[in-house]
Amino acid sequence: MNEFELIARYFNRPARRAILGVGDDAALLAPEPGMQLAVSADMLVEGRHFFPDVDPEALGHKALAVNLSDLAAMGADPSWCTLSLALPCVDEAWLAAFARGFHALADEADIELVGGDTTRGPLTIAVQVAGAVPAGQALLRSGGTPGDDVWVSGTLGAAAAAVAVRNGDASLPDEAMRACLGRLDRPTPRLALGRALRGLASAALDISDGLLADLGHIGERSACGAELDWEEIPAHPALASLPEAVRQQAVLAGGDDYELCFTAPALHRGRLQALSQTLGLPLSRIGRLVGGQGVRVFNAGQRLTPARAGFDHFAA
Ligand code: ADP
Ligand code: MG
Repeated sequence: MNEFELIARYFNRPARRAILGVGDDAALLAPEPGMQLAVSADMLVEGRHFFPDVDPEALGHKALAVNLSDLAAMGADPSWCTLSLALPCVDEAWLAAFARGFHALADEADIELVGGDTTRGPLTIAVQVAGAVPAGQALLRSGGTPGDDVWVSGTLGAAAAAVAVRNGDASLPDEAMRACLGRLDRPTPRLALGRALRGLASAALDISDGLLADLGHIGERSACGAELDWEEIPAHPALASLPEAVRQQAVLAGGDDYELCFTAPALHRGRLQALSQTLGLPLSRIGRLVGGQGVRVFNAGQRLTPARAGFDHFAA
């Protein structure tokens, strides 16, 4: 199979929203009047972002999911995406499974694949997404104010715990490990939440590098500090058997959870609790923005200091 047959078989799908999709030198797109486009890209590299033996269907899901998570964090509705692949060889079973995972999530999220690039090379998957948000309503990192509540969706730490177990740094019972691997391999982008947070959240982002590091970005952009209450931070239940220090590290500094962290004025507490009910998604109020800078976590009045705040590809 040559490059063009490969694209035609696995990645050329009819354009719906796009004026012109896969097949020309470029796609043609037009956002609805009054909308702005949120554009983001995320790359997954074998050995760095995923284990070489990962299920290709899960990988197809994850490559798109981590990008959709960025749209969720902006409060944008998914519109279009591109997929650029470097493949070491043409393995049709692998490609079919990868494409199945990718397209299933694309259909669910209503995002349209309109182009990409396919080349030979070390396995690398680069996805770019564009989503629409009403002009001026995107959720930025910079809108927080001291006194705002800090919230987080879902539960934290499962993906990092799965990585720790895979690396031999921790151990979990089989069932707990399965739950954690599910979170690592098939993250759920919180699109409905992001959309609903327009007009409610003052600042938002998705947790890809770790809660403390990512909330630190809101702090920097909003010129605030933050104080968190350890007891309020929702650890994934599968982490219950881990030693306290490992659990804290995973919950506070583990990456790859793709939950949303956001800030909102206290007057929205009732609406956010109601939203949590509507979405069937836990929303936890874990602390508050304060004056100054830096993110501090307290457990019964004692300051917690995890060894590492979050993931950094170029950390020494
Ligand atoms: P060009 O040579 O102009 O860069 P290509 O030959 O790389 O174009 O690709 C041909 C068409 O197929 C283009 O429309 C491109 O966007 C699309 N395409 C290539 N690879 C992929 C892919 N992995 N997924 C979706 N579309 C792709
Ligand atoms: Mg061309």
